[in-house]
Amino acid sequence: MMEKSNGELAIAGRAARALASSGSIMRFLMQSRDLGHAEACDFLAGNPVELASPAYVAAVQRAVEPDSPNYYRYGPPWRPAIEAVTPALAGRLGLELVPEDVFLTRGASSGLLLLLRLLLDPGDEVMMMSPPWFFYEAMVLAESAEPIKVPLTSGTFDLDLPEIERAITPRTRAVIVNSPHNPSGRIYPEDQLRGLSDILERASAQNRRRIYLLSDEAYARILFDGRVMITPARFYPATFMLHSYSKTLLAPSQRAGYLAMSPAMPQREQVRRALMLGSMSAGAIPDTAMQHAMPELERQIIDVPAVERRRDRMVAVMRDQGYLVESPEAGFYLFPRSPIPDAVEFCGWLDERHVYTLPGEAFERPGYFRISLTATDEMVERALPVLAEAIRTFSTGAF
Ligand code: PMP
Repeated sequence: MMEKSNGELAIAGRAARALASSGSIMRFLMQSRDLGHAEACDFLAGNPVELASPAYVAAVQRAVEPDSPNYYRYGPPWRPAIEAVTPALAGRLGLELVPEDVFLTRGASSGLLLLLRLLLDPGDEVMMMSPPWFFYEAMVLAESAEPIKVPLTSGTFDLDLPEIERAITPRTRAVIVNSPHNPSGRIYPEDQLRGLSDILERASAQNRRRIYLLSDEAYARILFDGRVMITPARFYPATFMLHSYSKTLLAPSQRAGYLAMSPAMPQREQVRRALMLGSMSAGAIPDTAMQHAMPELERQIIDVPAVERRRDRMVAVMRDQGYLVESPEAGFYLFPRSPIPDAVEFCGWLDERHVYTLPGEAFERPGYFRISLTATDEMVERALPVLAEAIRTFSTGAF
């Protein structure tokens, strides 16, 4: 229960519910770890562990330099950034997009927050797939709405369409889908997205109220083996797409990204106006420098083949060691089975040896643990013998 003073909550009830829902996640994320230790292997949270690329730094440095007295003024988003982003995104996703349907945001989370605020009335339900990204649930609760969780299929982490259909009610207002999926690295194939679209069309008609699809595409450009990512906006008109530079450029504390809506969005004009108001009033537009750097940042991307090679190395060696681990199709993470059901205990053992991972308990999947492939190759080589010792120790029960 929340701490009370004079019987009063210090914060709104909805904020208190959000806080209560995220206690264990915040504990895992805030837990102090000795990342400065010489032996530290940082597999925690898709964070950079090396200096950002000179090209990235140069682009941002150039954009910090004002070229006029009103460079740092209040104002609407910088149109040339939107005009640079729109065709690039449209080309990658195979969609016809116009700049008026693209909104600059401070990353995917800021876009998601804007959309939840725009679309939800109190008591509305927002469906999300489990395992979800850490903060979906708290964000939905903070809008006085109800998170409804539908597990992805066990093992393959696919959309469970019959379960999704069963979980829809007259209060369902939005469905959040994240592909490529964190933490499994699954890219949902076209038939699943078409199936989802059919379900949402039917349910919206039956409810006489539109169900929106919020497509979290934060990892859309971190793709392996020549795969492509398919946006559900190709099939479902009421889709919003959330994009971010956090992953593509691996500089996530520099807040920048964008959201786009399907060209077939119902009542598009009203939605556009509301998004412009929302992004200006909430301070959701990126800093001037990030906006001005965008045309160039849009052309940059981290060394994805290096992440892919790290995936291959870790998957091959860990399988030899006896771990059950799928080879992810995309994204930053491996999501292996923990040798014991209690992954918190398992990850704690690794922590003591400076190999820092996150237990599946942080993702509603006990019995798994997550390894971020944004670590260096040296960290990988240092960690592999520790992982070998870990599975030996825990498999024999000698711990
Ligand atoms: N969605 C997913 C699935 C993520 O993994 C993350 C970051 N870990 C985010 C959203 C938030 O991204 P951003 O930094 O762009 O806000």
